[in-house]
Amino acid sequence: MSASPAIAATPVTNQPRLLYDACPLCSAAEISTLRTGDCSGHPLYKPVVGPTMVWMRCAACGHVFTDGYFTDEVSAEIFSSTNPNQQPGAGFEQNRYLSARIVERVARYVADGCWLDVGFGNGSLLFTAEEWGFEPHGLDLRPSTAQGLRRLGIEAHCADLTTLDAPGRYSVISLADVLEHMPYPGEGLVAAHRLLREDGVIFASMPNYDCAVWRLLDAAEANPYWGELEHFHNFSRRRLYELLDEHGFEPLHYAVSERYRACMEVIARRV
Ligand SMILES: [Zn+2]
Repeated sequence: MSASPAIAATPVTNQPRLLYDACPLCSAAEISTLRTGDCSGHPLYKPVVGPTMVWMRCAACGHVFTDGYFTDEVSAEIFSSTNPNQQPGAGFEQNRYLSARIVERVARYVADGCWLDVGFGNGSLLFTAEEWGFEPHGLDLRPSTAQGLRRLGIEAHCADLTTLDAPGRYSVISLADVLEHMPYPGEGLVAAHRLLREDGVIFASMPNYDCAVWRLLDAAEANPYWGELEHFHNFSRRRLYELLDEHGFEPLHYAVSERYRACMEVIARRV
């Protein structure tokens, strides 16, 4: 163990982030600064968060994460604006093709039942899952977004995944670009495990920092993820699979995302 403290422990007034004092995945205390990133060009950037993001690395499990996550006040300020592409129904025809390729893969492992999409955005994954015979349910923190989906005839809940009380209800839970936004992604997996029926699966997507595309983007100094204001984590496939295993999921399928750069898509079964 290193004798020097890994990060500054002194609380700073108006600090926009609550600092991690240990790895948010494995709780090991030995964490150190990996690098910084500039988030000042991000569409949701507000001066309150500061232009520099600090990325940390855990010596024990290798996980890469920001030095802290936003306080509720800062989160509310950043996420007060919504991207028009993320409104229910946006780009419904073009997105149907992308969603179909995801639903087709998931349907190889689970044929029917309720499909819960967490942070459903434009709703495309749910519209398409319905075509395959799934009963679509959406979950979003914004009341207006949930209402928008209901207007399109789909059941939508306005709640946090970790507080949703419907144990064993779902056969599929999709976490498309969700886990890297959660301060403690393990909490999301605990909730998904509780909400899934016995043979249910999760679909999870996120950037993969341990791939050649990522390294080439780094080499070109063109990797957008070090300045991705909304992300608290960069996962490797290896670390994601370990986390899934720790939370009672068996990875079944790996694919490359067609929607976002350098992203991976994983299907895993509740065991
Ligand atoms: Zn760790």
